[in-house]
Amino acid sequence: MSTAKAINLINENFQFEITESGTGNHVNLIGIIDEDTDFSALLKLKTSPVVFNFKNITSINSCGIRTWVNFVKEFPEGSVTFIECPPLVVRQMNMVPSFMGKAKVESVFVPYVCDSCEHEQNKLVLVSEYKKGISIPETIQCEKCQSEEMEMDGNVKQYFSFAK
Ligand SMILES: [Zn+2]
Repeated sequence: MSTAKAINLINENFQFEITESGTGNHVNLIGIIDEDTDFSALLKLKTSPVVFNFKNITSINSCGIRTWVNFVKEFPEGSVTFIECPPLVVRQMNMVPSFMGKAKVESVFVPYVCDSCEHEQNKLVLVSEYKKGISIPETIQCEKCQSEEMEMDGNVKQYFSFAK
């Protein structure tokens, strides 16, 4: 299996990094998705399986959502996987289901906020575990002040409503 990495700068706020392998492509999306984000350079990937990693997406506005929805619907059923979706992407998937297209969402970050020191921390969760009924903890330990009172920011059921 050979891998090759290429960074592509779309504009000053958005870039992507493609890692190719024998079984498909892994695309790391980086920065801000807005009215200036042009995904057309990624359309060539629709002929093989593709994994989109959203971990480094820092902001999406409503024009960006529309652009993404139009882009992702070009990909056939079963070919797209989303991984490491941060809360800002999960909230979009809940509000705008077409944001997912026909993608399978494999993993998301669940946000926690510390009651004692207000530190924020994200915990990566496999969507398959949530669907199997493996419970998402409502509180975890704060990595900063060690308090046990770090609470999930929001409601678990609402947060995972995209996974229905
Ligand atoms: Zn804390």
